[in-house]
Order: sequence, then C-alpha cells, then structure tokens
Amino acid sequence: MDRDIIDELIADALDCGFSHVGPLDVSTIVIHKEARDACAENKCGRYGTNWSCPPGCGTLEECERLIRRYSRGVIVQTTGEIDVFDYDTYLEVGKRHHELFSRFARTVRKKAPDALLCGGSSCSGCSECTYPDAPCRFPERLSYPMEGLGMMVYEVCRDNGLKYNYGNGTLTYIGCVLVD
Ligand code: SF4
Repeated sequence: MDRDIIDELIADALDCGFSHVGPLDVSTIVIHKEARDACAENKCGRYGTNWSCPPGCGTLEECERLIRRYSRGVIVQTTGEIDVFDYDTYLEVGKRHHELFSRFARTVRKKAPDALLCGGSSCSGCSECTYPDAPCRFPERLSYPMEGLGMMVYEVCRDNGLKYNYGNGTLTYIGCVLVD
C-alpha cells in the first residue's frame, strides 16, 4: 500500500461530509490504562455488552498489539453547534457522526479490507450483539471506540495536528481508521 491511500481516504472522508479530517501517524499513539479504567466506570452503559468494548475487545496488551499492526491512518471529526440546554442537539451531532462514519467505513473496507475501524463509539453493526455467547458475526464490520482500545482521543488529535475542541457552543465526535 503506498502513501496515496491516505490522500485518497482523506478525500473520501471529506466527500462523506466530515467537518475536519487529517492524517494519523500510528507511532504517535500512546496506550493508556487510564482510558480503559474510564471505560470500566461504564458511564456510557456499553461496558461488557459487545465485542468492541472492554473486556470483550481484549486486554490492554492485546489492543496495543492490534494497533501496532498498522502504521498510519486518518482521523475524522464531526463538529456541530450545540445548545447546552437542549440534549437533543447532542444526540443529533452523534447521529450525524455515526451516519458519516458508516458511509466512510464502507469506502474504507473496499480500499483497505484489513483496516481497523474506530467509529467513536461502541460497535452497532448488529441490532443485538452476540457478546459474550458467540463470536462476532461480522468481524470485518466491527468498529471500536478509541478509548476502549486504550487511546486518549484528545491526545491522538493533538499529536496529529487536529483540535479536540472547536470552542464554546460546539461538540465534536471523533473517530479514526488505521491502515498498514
Ligand atoms: S458486528 Fe455485530 S456481533 Fe460484531 S461486535 Fe458489532 S454488534 Fe457485535
């Protein structure tokens, strides 16, 4: 795979409609136990419910080995304006990010079938996850939350030249794809 795949994926991500897109150097990614500790608090209610979140996604060491199989990638961000008193606007931005990432993931899978997909939240590839009773139905569609693999999202953005926060009155959802 040559350098052009990153340029192509960046163009594809912009075509999909993401607000901000940039290249990701996997060597900048630091794996943090603290990110997983935050998952274990289960504030999102998804901990232990699917194969993309801890503990189903593997130990921290296994997640790091998975990430280190790749050398580069693309960060994608969906930024929306929010009214702090209106929870629906939070949901709308999240829904938009999810839709954009699903569209982007289809393109990525065609161009880089072995890509690692991190959509920004736990996998929602099936209406009901098989976890923990049977293996993942669609491993090629499985999309991980970055934090679940041990990444600090703000740090990955910062170390790759993208903002994490675009100012008061905005909310940004963030995902990435890794390719080798
Ligand atoms: S693809 Fe389906 S079975 Fe696999 S982790 Fe996602 S929801 Fe679960």
